[in-house]
Amino acid sequence: MPNRPKKIKRGWKPERIKHQRSVDMSWYYNDPRWRKFSLGFKERYPLCKKCYEIGLISPTAYTDHIERLRDGGAPDLDHLVDEDFQGLCDSCHASKSGKEAHGYKEVKGSKDSK
Ligand SMILES: [Zn+2]
Repeated sequence: MPNRPKKIKRGWKPERIKHQRSVDMSWYYNDPRWRKFSLGFKERYPLCKKCYEIGLISPTAYTDHIERLRDGGAPDLDHLVDEDFQGLCDSCHASKSGKEAHGYKEVKGSKDSK
């Protein structure tokens, strides 16, 4: 039985993006400053940090924000520093993203950016 109150449209208010899994960060990842940093980072940290910690050797596939972007992790493209990032392999990145997504409602059809 749906008992949710009808959504009231307030034209003057911007639509809230709540519980949306992915904020579109493609502008960030497409920025040449990010691309350059990320490429350099993978060269400096060619091995997955998490795997390395448990004695495995996996190549870095992702320049991962230790703090998520939307939680305030290094959003400033002019001041990207290695300390805010870690190199992760495919599977570690997937498992980290999965854990992060926990508590966030999956929105079907939303684009995921990496
Ligand atoms: Zn790994």
